[in-house]
Amino acid sequence: MTGTPGTRLTRREDDRAEAIEAELCVVGAGMSGIACAVTAARLGRRVVLLDAAPWVGGQAVGVPIGTIAGLYGCGPEDGQALLSPLFAEEILARLVDRDAAWPMYSRRARTRIVVYDEAELERIFETMLLDAGALVVPGAVAEAVEREGDRLVTVSFATRFGRITVRAPLFVDASGDAVLSWLAGASCRVGEAPVYGTQMAVLEQVDLPADQDATTIARRAEALLAEHAERYGLTRRESRVFLLPQRGLAMLNATHLETPLHPVAFWQAAWPARAEAERAAQLLRERYPEVFGRARLRRLGYPGIRQTRTIVGRATLTAADVLGGRRFPDAIARAAWPIELHDTATDYRWQPLPDGHCYTVPYRALLPAELANVLAVGR
Ligand SMILES: Cc1cc2nc3c(=O)[nH]c(=O)nc-3n(C[C@H](O)[C@H](O)[C@H](O)COP(=O)(O)OP(=O)(O)OC[C@H]3O[C@@H](n4cnc5c(N)ncnc54)[C@H](O)[C@@H]3O)c2cc1C
Repeated sequence: MTGTPGTRLTRREDDRAEAIEAELCVVGAGMSGIACAVTAARLGRRVVLLDAAPWVGGQAVGVPIGTIAGLYGCGPEDGQALLSPLFAEEILARLVDRDAAWPMYSRRARTRIVVYDEAELERIFETMLLDAGALVVPGAVAEAVEREGDRLVTVSFATRFGRITVRAPLFVDASGDAVLSWLAGASCRVGEAPVYGTQMAVLEQVDLPADQDATTIARRAEALLAEHAERYGLTRRESRVFLLPQRGLAMLNATHLETPLHPVAFWQAAWPARAEAERAAQLLRERYPEVFGRARLRRLGYPGIRQTRTIVGRATLTAADVLGGRRFPDAIARAAWPIELHDTATDYRWQPLPDGHCYTVPYRALLPAELANVLAVGR
């Protein structure tokens, strides 16, 4: 042993939560929370952004999702046009600058998608937040709120270093699970049937022959996953494979797991899905050796969550609005991604939209009906 024994301490009885005052408190540092925090901070607002995970970027970084989809129009022509540019345009430009984005035209979705490297995206998010002057606190779980009438006054967070209480006039709920509405005792909504999440697997040392089109290889891998799913104990039949040719990486979106918002049940569903994701990698190594024979597992990310609990908003976007291409007077986003619903264990529902079709999202859908100073964004 080296060094001095140090000062002896015991916890003080009046150990209080760290208090933070901000003009805007954003809960959830996924893509959506980051967009809010960076935009508000650039407008000169005092912003604090907190996330339960010990990284920023949410599922786009930690799962990792692996593709950015849903930003472009639909069809051979419109499929090349960004529908809601602003923040998305900047992220895409920064990814391209770092040689970390592979845009491609998806024949299936009939639109442009972008495969990206999640480690680069994480650094982009960190740099944007800090350059904008936001206070960023990863590893902070929102666990309680103080409410006066229809307004939130404070939100409290648990961290490994102690508690934090944030007081702000405005809050953004970018948790994807309507966490602020839930903690405030406001009405929330859950689906009648579970929407399945996915345990991704990232493989490295994937050999992609220069004379073969990456899309053709991905489709062949997907066909093999479907054909041999039963033999390898895979629940899901309809899988997606994304390739990053320049980095020799493949991302397997080949499992379905239930994602209950329960601290024990969530992980009881996740462990078998992690084993399945590894078996999907083994399947490709054995059945497609010319491409995947040397492939190694780079990482299994955090179990991916699709839809869980949502707010009850002042308006609700329905499937009829999407299919009818409804334009709301208070539209804040446009989109043209097909209806994609992962509500069966083996497959998912997929309803493409006609060429040139587009629908909008009303701002009122982001406002919890029972809370006056909360905006819910994202997943
Ligand atoms: C496998 C998979 C593939 C997908 N593919 C696509 C795709 O191609 N295109 C697309 O648009 N979408 C896709 N999605 C949906 C995708 O999740 C979202 O589009 C996007 O990542 C959501 O970003 P977000 O910021 O809204 O939420 P998230 O990335 O989920 O971020 C929410 C954050 O809130 C934090 N949080 C939650 N609860 C608390 C709490 N109590 N306290 C503090 N922080 C909390 C979480 O830690 C998390 O970081 C996919 C989802 C999955 C699972």
